[in-house]
Amino acid sequence: MVSEALIRQQNADLTHLNTLGFKCSAPWLVQVATADELPAVFDFAHQQDLPVFPLGGGSNVILRPALNALVLQQQPLPLDWPQDLSDQLLLRVPAGNNWHQLVMETASKGYHGLENLALIPGQAGAAPIQNIGAYGAEVADCLLAVEGWWLPEAGQPARFDVIPAADCCLGYRDSRFKRDWKGRFVITALQIQLKRSAEPRLNYGDLAERLHLRQQQQAGDLPLPQLIAETVAAIRREKLPDPAAIGNVGSFFKNPLVDHQQAQELQAAWPQLPIYPAEQGSKLAAGWLIDQCGFKGFCKGAVGVHDRQALVLVHHGGGDAEQLLALADEIVTCVQARFGVPLEREPEVVKL
Ligand SMILES: Cc1cc2nc3c(=O)[nH]c(=O)nc-3n(C[C@H](O)[C@H](O)[C@H](O)COP(=O)(O)OP(=O)(O)OC[C@H]3O[C@@H](n4cnc5c(N)ncnc54)[C@H](O)[C@@H]3O)c2cc1C
Repeated sequence: MVSEALIRQQNADLTHLNTLGFKCSAPWLVQVATADELPAVFDFAHQQDLPVFPLGGGSNVILRPALNALVLQQQPLPLDWPQDLSDQLLLRVPAGNNWHQLVMETASKGYHGLENLALIPGQAGAAPIQNIGAYGAEVADCLLAVEGWWLPEAGQPARFDVIPAADCCLGYRDSRFKRDWKGRFVITALQIQLKRSAEPRLNYGDLAERLHLRQQQQAGDLPLPQLIAETVAAIRREKLPDPAAIGNVGSFFKNPLVDHQQAQELQAAWPQLPIYPAEQGSKLAAGWLIDQCGFKGFCKGAVGVHDRQALVLVHHGGGDAEQLLALADEIVTCVQARFGVPLEREPEVVKL
């Protein structure tokens, strides 16, 4: 039996728990303070014959009006800072902690590793799901392991496990949690490793230039990781819509990966097309492709494309997932017809 104190709400309204602001309800929303409470929650979900759906900040999900699941949220917990703040820091981060706060806290103590990932919304527990990345860094760079629970399946009880990062197959906005482990594992903590003496990564966009300006203006001497994090946050505030003001899930599509030959052909036909080297082949700027199809600032009823960033689809209010997905399909069709490049969606359409 799950304790009454854990159950926050029956027939819960999730409208304000997803950054698109889509209307959504679920039969149960349960918030846990510590990971020890999870087995009782799994039992309760089993009694209710409901799957468990872990929800963080709702900033990478597209919810339909009825989510037939027990929605599980984890609450933030204080970080356990080691006494000796030496060059290398091994930190255990509870899943319910706010990602941006974690970035700012570690950066202000002078640790490199997370500073380029400032102002990404959501909780720490969701960071490995799509291996969050920005400004030339990704969580895979610092992640040692994830802790959590395998959900009960095929008659097997729930089981606690610590999974090394290498087993998670973290890739470009991808991991096993989005594929064969989807819906099977609840992350309760991250084990990360940060360093004081690392080389900062500044070769992305105008980050180096903006950092230099900030360093000139800065009176006190803040730790470099903190300055970088603040600079990244300032650039992002200028470029990306604030979900508190307009519903969105950040980049709606991944930047497509193509082989060198296709990249060269596209570059010859479209000399302005931004192309970046990738581990295998080249990465194209999806926002540029969408912009060229005339979608920037486009509105279709309650949904549309942001007027400064074509990669971000927005919800103006009163719309739903179907309208947004129809617009996304239109964009995919147009980009495919014009450039011969398929676009892949980044956020998850929750199908429970
Ligand atoms: C304005 C804006 C900017 C963004 N910028 C970036 C960016 O630069 N880079 C980037 O990579 N992403 C970006 N995102 C996407 C998003 O913020 C990240 O993917 C983030 O990690 C999602 O966290 P969340 O807590 O909101 O997850 P949710 O949206 O709540 O969940 C996402 C997925 O993770 C699963 N999940 C969540 N918590 C757990 C857990 N504890 N255990 C198991 N599964 C879990 C959910 O079930 C769901 O499948 C942006 C989004 C917005 C709105």
